[in-house]
Amino acid sequence: MNSVLQQDLNDLENILEKTKQQGLGFLNNLENSPTSNKETIDPTRALNELGLGSLAALKEFNERMAPLLVASPGPRYWGFVTGGSTPASIVGDWLASVYDQNTQAIKAQGGVSALIEFETINLLLQLFDLPKTFLGGFVTGATMSNFTCLGVARQWFGAQFGKDFAKNGISETLNILTATPHSSAVKSLAMLGIGSQNYTVIKTIEGNREAIDIVDLEEKIKALNGKPFILISSAGTVNTADFDDFKAISKLKGKYNFWWHIDAAFGGFAAVSDKFKHLVDGWENADSITIDCHKWLNVPYESAFYLVKNDHVNLQIETFQNSNAPYLGNPLENFNYLNVLPENSRRLRALPVWFSLLAYGKEGFCDIVENSVHLALHFGNALIEDGHFELLAPIRLNNVCFTLKGNHNQEKVASFLTHLNDSGKVFMTPTVYQNKKGIRASFVNWRTSEKDIKMVIEEMKAIISELNL
Ligand SMILES: *Cc1c(COP(=O)(O)O)cnc(C)c1O
Repeated sequence: MNSVLQQDLNDLENILEKTKQQGLGFLNNLENSPTSNKETIDPTRALNELGLGSLAALKEFNERMAPLLVASPGPRYWGFVTGGSTPASIVGDWLASVYDQNTQAIKAQGGVSALIEFETINLLLQLFDLPKTFLGGFVTGATMSNFTCLGVARQWFGAQFGKDFAKNGISETLNILTATPHSSAVKSLAMLGIGSQNYTVIKTIEGNREAIDIVDLEEKIKALNGKPFILISSAGTVNTADFDDFKAISKLKGKYNFWWHIDAAFGGFAAVSDKFKHLVDGWENADSITIDCHKWLNVPYESAFYLVKNDHVNLQIETFQNSNAPYLGNPLENFNYLNVLPENSRRLRALPVWFSLLAYGKEGFCDIVENSVHLALHFGNALIEDGHFELLAPIRLNNVCFTLKGNHNQEKVASFLTHLNDSGKVFMTPTVYQNKKGIRASFVNWRTSEKDIKMVIEEMKAIISELNL
């Protein structure tokens, strides 16, 4: 063993202790740390011949990098629907690195890590009140979850024509219907060789809505003359957190032959609260569902899972199996994650989620969801009261989509947001909604409170007067 490594090994306890102190330093100061930073680092550092050892590397990290990292897990990072990390999720995340498992098979050499993942998916199904007929697994984010689900959907589409697209390539034009797909679903269509432009846009409901107009959907289905199709629907669109009508889509499922995918990256969490559960009524009838954990479950990046109905498991294996050999025996008996999803190398990504669910239970997450929605409404009301802002859409859940009041201010939205984000007190995302430039604030972080809203509104007022708006 190299002497620096040997020294690190001997000093492991001290190194991990210092790392813990470093982590505490950041987490305990999260409320006061800036949410943005304009300073940069010069990334051209030369690699040294002799290693420095972990503690010297930590020292350099502290000097050059740590002060420039932003408070993205903090209470006022409202851009991109970014959750924070709860204590339990950090425990799970740290231990996932420490135990460094290769999570694949549920039998044989793999240890129990794949079964921990099974158990975690099972706990999640209980959290979301979904049936056990879904099989699930962890991937890095909702993008990869959408990719996985739509990959199986693509295989299903081929099977309707007696074709195996995974083996022989795509030889039929796929019919994809969707109203307000997330950009990552469109990206998945590109990655899957379906084509990012090859989908038919369903009308949204009249008025300030992003949800599927069911009448138009049925017309577009009829125009397909009985051909199969894939429907990509939404539980929570990013701008206005709108939900498709899953009960109506369930009914169509009985009449037409289609694969139904729901992108529920953050909106799926409506199911966790009795107040908002109705928004996802009927979603249990979908063929596949995408849900992110690094958003409303407040675990560290990267964490999401897919759910695919278990009667599609053979299609899923055809799509992702890691060899050309035919799959032998009962797929569930010899289950191996590397045959059902894109990655072959997999960490124990379920562990932060497992710890979170055990630590906080259904009630803990119900409280986070209800608090986030309360804060979104509170922030929306404060914006209206201030008089300089208008909402671009009603607040349906946890996202607030707003802009500067008056068309004459449209050109100033970007500079207002730049000033606001530069303050380092809050971070929000620019957006365009119904051809209007807007700003999006998304509430998912477990730490956010009314105190934060007050502070942000004050900052917004200050920038309004600074810019003479
Ligand atoms: C965030 C989000 C995604 C993409 O998720 P990642 O975790 O960033 O890959 C997809 N769909 C919706 C609705 C989202 O909100």
